[in-house]
Amino acid sequence: MIIVMRPEATADQVDHVCALVTEAGLKPQAIQGTDLVVVAVIGDDRLKDDSKFEQVPGVDRIMRVLSPYKMAAVETTAGKRTEIRVGEGDGCIFGGVSVPVIAGPCSVEGEDKLLEIARKVKAAGAHALRGGAFKPRTNPYAFQGHGEDGLKMLAAARDLTGLPIVTEVLTPSDVELVSKYADCLQIGTRNAQNFKLLEAVGQQQKPVLFKRGMAMTINEYLQAADYILAEGNPNVILCERGIRTFEDHTRNTLPLASVPELKRRSHLPIVVDPSHGTGHAYLVPDMSRAAIAAGCDGLAIECHQDPAHAMTDGAQSITPEVLTELMGSLARVADAVDRVCRPTVSV
Ligand code: PEP
Ligand code: MN
Repeated sequence: MIIVMRPEATADQVDHVCALVTEAGLKPQAIQGTDLVVVAVIGDDRLKDDSKFEQVPGVDRIMRVLSPYKMAAVETTAGKRTEIRVGEGDGCIFGGVSVPVIAGPCSVEGEDKLLEIARKVKAAGAHALRGGAFKPRTNPYAFQGHGEDGLKMLAAARDLTGLPIVTEVLTPSDVELVSKYADCLQIGTRNAQNFKLLEAVGQQQKPVLFKRGMAMTINEYLQAADYILAEGNPNVILCERGIRTFEDHTRNTLPLASVPELKRRSHLPIVVDPSHGTGHAYLVPDMSRAAIAAGCDGLAIECHQDPAHAMTDGAQSITPEVLTELMGSLARVADAVDRVCRPTVSV
């Protein structure tokens, strides 16, 4: 259930509604929109009696949301898309007219290499830098990242280029540490249903790039996204990174129909990761263009200066030269679908 407050409702009236919701054994979550406040009511549907809220001062109307992901549902914002800023400034905003590109290596491999690729990614025109300091691996004995040292390298790369940084957090106990350095916390596919981790990222305010679990349905995915929102962090960016199917010509199957489907169901921005989605660098440019044509709000692309020697995910990493060329064509595709994907100005 969603309680829509009148545009002129006072803060006291919103607090009063929240108190009534709590009194009913439910959890209120007030969401401040541009014109008005809505209070999402979270909890057991059977306890909800909407009639008692109708006459409360400041309340405009009550909306029943049938979907199991109430805060993530498109009805919650009356169709308005949520815009999420990553980093300082206006260079990287997801969910608006612009389509930012996050690019960088799969892993932070070392300071010199990171600074070199960060410079190249920036020169290519990308809007944010990615790189894993904590790496989830298919084989647990493989390289698992440089940890806090890697985070410090990412911070140095941000200082050098001005690009905001996106990096993965693997455990609830690392959330505070990672959010100290990162501009955006990534939740990887293997952790998309790690509810304790979702709670932890929901309890801090840095934006979250929330990747779809490789075996999750859209419904399950949006419920998990909702769980982050319900903890109080409104800054959740969805990310389609491909799912497991019987098809094996690609590492995962990248279902681009999920982009318009997610936008139909949710107000949250949706980024596409064509690197993990395909597993092959040669497929990344075409799938990036297709993702923008399908309406995505951003791209996350693995880019390495020497893919053959990358410590992780070399096969799916494009070179800075390919990225540079790609940025030009992304701008043209974006233009054709009334979006903007303008390369950033180089340092
Ligand atoms: C990554 O971004 O490098 C990564 C491990 O992604 P995913 O969780 O989608 O596999
Ligand atoms: Mn990777």
